[in-house]
Amino acid sequence: MTKDIITSSPRRIAILGSTGSIGTQALDIISENNGRFQVSVLAAGSNAELLIKQCKLFRPRVAIIADKSRYAEVRDALSGRDIEVYSGADAMCCAVERDDVDVVLTATIGYSGLAPTVRAIKAGKDIALANKETLVVAGELIERLLKESKSKIYPVDSEHSAIYQCLVGEDMSNVTKLIITASGGPFRTLSRKEMTSVTVKDALMHPNWQMGAKITVDSSTMMNKAFEIIEARWLFGVPVEKIEAVVHPQSIIHSMVQFADGAVKAQLGIPDMHLPICYALGYGERIPSSRRVLTVADYASMTFEMPDEERFPCLTLARYALKAGGTAACTINAANEVAVSSFLHGELKYIDIFNVITSTLERADMIMNPGYDDYVAVNTQARSIASEVIQKFR
Ligand code: NDP
Ligand code: MG
Repeated sequence: MTKDIITSSPRRIAILGSTGSIGTQALDIISENNGRFQVSVLAAGSNAELLIKQCKLFRPRVAIIADKSRYAEVRDALSGRDIEVYSGADAMCCAVERDDVDVVLTATIGYSGLAPTVRAIKAGKDIALANKETLVVAGELIERLLKESKSKIYPVDSEHSAIYQCLVGEDMSNVTKLIITASGGPFRTLSRKEMTSVTVKDALMHPNWQMGAKITVDSSTMMNKAFEIIEARWLFGVPVEKIEAVVHPQSIIHSMVQFADGAVKAQLGIPDMHLPICYALGYGERIPSSRRVLTVADYASMTFEMPDEERFPCLTLARYALKAGGTAACTINAANEVAVSSFLHGELKYIDIFNVITSTLERADMIMNPGYDDYVAVNTQARSIASEVIQKFR
């Protein structure tokens, strides 16, 4: 599964979402591993200040700011530095195809990750995949494209990195179960009734992980875990019946794999994304780390419990989406993005995020064997339905 890394020249990286939680940690790793990696492309959404700072430090060939209103600011600040500056969504798609890009770290949020990932795979680039929504929206398409391309996907998501590490040297036909661990989030012990009064501040207080706002809310609803079940299905080619989520509040075991002889392999570590990002950018090489690492004796007890799907029904939705196939998961993702954004803007109650998703699912078109254009159409339609539905819940 891993590729040879024995190269003398640095691996050239395009970071999509360089100003975010994953993007900034990836840049830390690149700084700490001088000469091993080189930054070719940095792309951000609207944080022009940080993008400019990163460009001055890492000197990429290309800088992209998706927000067109910030383009002139970035261009002017970087003039005379031999950095091409672009704006708009299509710029990321063109940049990932460049000859000076070996691997694309997809670390933008949500649906925006799909188009550049598709283009990168078609151009034969490797993918360090943080943007799980790409596989949620269009896992079937990505699986098809990978079969026709020399590109490989290296998971960044900690659970999938753990599974990937457990599978090294194993025969996939011996895998009986993928066990994805979940912290359970900040509302692990709340009743549905208690969830009716959850505020934005409450939802952004993840017990173990520091992450961007959208994924932090998804973790609290367990939609993040639902997406990770879908992500695992497409990354590892394992049917949904063999993928289980288990709550492990300490977030030390990042996931496990069970084999035909009953053995269970696990990967452990402190909750820190540096290891999985580094492992993905290194194509599975064990790059020495000077960061704090796990001392097992610090964890006298590690506990596990099955998730309560009545209180966290998103998990049921993931299994439904995989069984239904077609564009079901694309619709769920779009509705979730719209609902979470409304919640974060104080326009939707926390408890109604799930209701918006199911109401959208009932009304959106379902297309079987979808191609890229079908995902685009369903995503647009589902967003519009979700926005309408939200009005009823306000
Ligand atoms: P953040 O919100 O912290 O960062 C998102 C990044 O994407 C920012 O650089 C943002 O730019 C940029 N961005 C947003 N929209 C666009 C767009 N339309 N075009 C270009 N760039 C855009 O998110 P995270 O880093 O937390 O998450 C990124 C991805 O990684 C998500 O898919 C998430 O599920 C996944 N992931 C994250 C983990 C984590 O620990 N954070 C763990 C596992 C997976 P700007 O800053 O300018 O807005
Ligand atoms: Mg994860």
